[in-house]
Amino acid sequence: MIGILGGTFDPIHYGHLRSALELKELFELDHVRLIPCAQPVHRDSPTATATQRLEMLQLAVKNQTDFIVDTQELQRAGGSYTFDTLTALRSNYRKVPLLLFIGSDAFNDFTTWFRWKELFDLAHVVVITRPNATLNPLNEFFKTHLTNDKKILKQEVAGLLFFQQITQLEISATAIRGMITTRKNPCFLLPDAVIDYIYQHQLYF
Ligand code: ATP
Repeated sequence: MIGILGGTFDPIHYGHLRSALELKELFELDHVRLIPCAQPVHRDSPTATATQRLEMLQLAVKNQTDFIVDTQELQRAGGSYTFDTLTALRSNYRKVPLLLFIGSDAFNDFTTWFRWKELFDLAHVVVITRPNATLNPLNEFFKTHLTNDKKILKQEVAGLLFFQQITQLEISATAIRGMITTRKNPCFLLPDAVIDYIYQHQLYF
């Protein structure tokens, strides 16, 4: 099984990295693909350039064979649609279960995503929840795809909805950018190599 974690990664931080590792272990994944988006469809444009976000990601996962940085969305022109990304992955991995990880906030808007129902033809959707997360009631479509049995995810290549609680560190890229702008020290929230990169490139000042 392969896990997919998309994001702006502006910048990548230990919240992303710890969750990705925990998910890799929980689902016994072959690897997790970290996929930086070019032009996010559901939020404001990132502050750092696509190249800078990618370079920070590469520094963060250097020497980590559990993670693969997948640049496909940066190479495609226009908005980054999960539908296109999963279609491309499915054509490369025809018989492998794909797990699309999304946060519970994103899942609450899921029915606004481009071709959202068809995403279930391409992958399983795993919603990452925190204790006390507020989720909208599930619609009929979601209910028919829902499973509580993690083992079934390995038996089908796509089509299931699963909720997984993980330990989420209280770290956000927005807070890190704010710390740098206000000259506070972001140490211990993200890898040192990424902090060095941010200072070298005068990002977020
Ligand atoms: P921003 O603060 O700029 O919105 P972010 O820190 O939420 O950024 P994104 O790049 O938007 O980071 O997130 C990519 C993915 O990582 C999303 O699915 C998001 O839900 C998840 N994520 C973000 N922060 C954490 C965290 N602290 N723990 C676990 N997952 C996280």
